Amino acid sequence: MTQLPAPAKTDVAIVLVAAGRGLRAGRDIPKQYVRLAGRPLLSHTLDSLSVLGASIQPIIADADALMFAQALAAASPAARQLCRAALPGGETRQASVRAGLRALAGLPPYIVLIHDGARCHPSPNLLRRAVDAARQHGAAIPGLMVTDTIKQVDASCQATATLDRALLRAVQTPQAFRFALIEAAHERAAADGLDDLPDDAAVLERMGVPVHVFEGDAGNMKVTRPEDFAMAEARLLLDLPEIRTGQGYDVHAFGPGDHVWLGGLKIPHGAALVGHSDADVLLHALTDALLGALADGDIGSHFPPSDPKWKGAASDQFLRHAVDLVTARGGMVAHLDGTLICEAPKIGPHREAMRARIAAICGLPLGRVAVKATTSEGLGFTGRREGIAAMALATIRLPAGA
Ligand code: MG
Repeated sequence: MTQLPAPAKTDVAIVLVAAGRGLRAGRDIPKQYVRLAGRPLLSHTLDSLSVLGASIQPIIADADALMFAQALAAASPAARQLCRAALPGGETRQASVRAGLRALAGLPPYIVLIHDGARCHPSPNLLRRAVDAARQHGAAIPGLMVTDTIKQVDASCQATATLDRALLRAVQTPQAFRFALIEAAHERAAADGLDDLPDDAAVLERMGVPVHVFEGDAGNMKVTRPEDFAMAEARLLLDLPEIRTGQGYDVHAFGPGDHVWLGGLKIPHGAALVGHSDADVLLHALTDALLGALADGDIGSHFPPSDPKWKGAASDQFLRHAVDLVTARGGMVAHLDGTLICEAPKIGPHREAMRARIAAICGLPLGRVAVKATTSEGLGFTGRREGIAAMALATIRLPAGA
């Protein structure tokens, strides 16, 4: 896992609890790693949390380290910058939170938010309300008015009481606390042999510490049951209504050499492609297609050939940079479609590996990356085997007004 320095722009930190197995969600991997709108659910959570500019301490299951790394790679540059190295969780949620608080205790924040990874879409307003409420009250949790009538039942499902709705709240995360208060309470609960309290507020309630309930957010749903994935995805896409397409085109000439770089792969060939960088004509076209969709210049303006820094550079970083520009604007890459035009090398044997490589560079599922190839029937410069051309289309989704 990559550890980036966490910038201390604020006295707030976040413990992100993502060590659960999520069995009720009915998937073969933990629900926080299921892909929603093209990337792992947890990467959306990380992006949502990043608006506070607070460092984020993820707590994950040891067995999920690789999936976590993929989720982090798919998150926005801001979220990746704020994320501390993930730490292993404990047997229970409470033990996992305790591990997160201990990790922060060396340089304690004033306020800590504790958030469940499976709530992928906390709004900026909700996060700010949580911080403000914790500053004011010391301990604060988001709650929603209950609209259904709530019955208490016995073991045989006989209704035994009708509860007063006005006195009930459905509680969400992030729960927000003065760090010193919640850290001491968690240590005390552990020392008392309690390790499975239902939430962090309960850790304080048992000590008689008042916990303020502020207004939650109905959109801040927790993905729990199988049917929740579609609803969560619809909510995420609802916030990305602007669909744009960009095109890219690139050509590189053959020169002396024994391999070419195409689609991020080194392919043996009787010639090389000539260029300032590694001359990966397909990755260049895809990069330009993304920049075109963003209306943000072209590959030459982002990576000037006059800059010696890019001499011989691997082109995967150009493509990744363009993807990062999309996520930095709160958007997502919906689809990439590239076409290589050449007589040789033969692309067919490498096509699937190229798709996989491009998908890995961009943090996309394979189904959102297409690679095609054609010859020009012996016509023109590609037909004369003087070089390779590539064309690409990128489709992206952006927030309204982007
Ligand atoms: Mg080029």
